Amino acid sequence: MIDTHAHLSSRFSEEIKIEGLDYVVLAASCLQDSKDNLELSKINKKLLPAIGIHPQEINDDFANLEKLFDDRVVAIGECGLDYSELPDKTADSFAVMAARQVELFRKQIVMSQNVNRPLIVHARKAVDEAVEILKEYKNISGVFHCYAGGIKRIKKIIELDGESPSLKSFGGPRWYFGIDGNLTYEIGLEEVVKNIPKDRLILETDSPYLTPVPFRGEKNCPEYVKYVYQKVSEIWQMSLESTEKIIDDNAKRLFNLV
Ligand SMILES: [Zn+2]
Repeated sequence: MIDTHAHLSSRFSEEIKIEGLDYVVLAASCLQDSKDNLELSKINKKLLPAIGIHPQEINDDFANLEKLFDDRVVAIGECGLDYSELPDKTADSFAVMAARQVELFRKQIVMSQNVNRPLIVHARKAVDEAVEILKEYKNISGVFHCYAGGIKRIKKIIELDGESPSLKSFGGPRWYFGIDGNLTYEIGLEEVVKNIPKDRLILETDSPYLTPVPFRGEKNCPEYVKYVYQKVSEIWQMSLESTEKIIDDNAKRLFNLV
């Protein structure tokens, strides 16, 4: 089992619970998280660092983020667009603030191309906008982390794969859907998962947030990703073992793991 999205830097957790997991991808929201993730990967080789700047950390320092990259980094992100806390789209200030997020997102997309790593995309109230931007770039791959685009946007994201000849060399789909512990208590999300092709689904905890049933209300940890796997196996009506194999193969393909 692989938790493809957890925040384990010191500001989130004192204790790292990863028993039974093959890997945990450490998502980064800011420069400091990115540095912490690189340090954590030295402690345990199952901890795979991503580096990136979240759209709400707009004043963070991209130039120094780029300098942090080394071979251990498995992904760039989380990066993207978050319009959930911006003023209403009709307000004058919306355009200014959104433009800054777009600029930071584009820089990280280009970085992902340059270093040949997938993107961990955070898109809140801005899935369509994120897709429109990503369409402009070739040879990128990634995951819509904590996918919140509903059934109707699944096709759009699949189409980001495009017709690029390099698709074959990638060995499978380039774009994935990351689903979290809220699958265990949000009925609507079950319907979404039913509509996501099996070879495009990966699972995550977003620890310390989004704790699944039966621990809802408590702090989340990577080990609890097993409850999300279990829920998917019920939805797919497959054994946990077969479910795990499919999902782990997807994660390994995206993050280029053995
Ligand atoms: Zn996150």
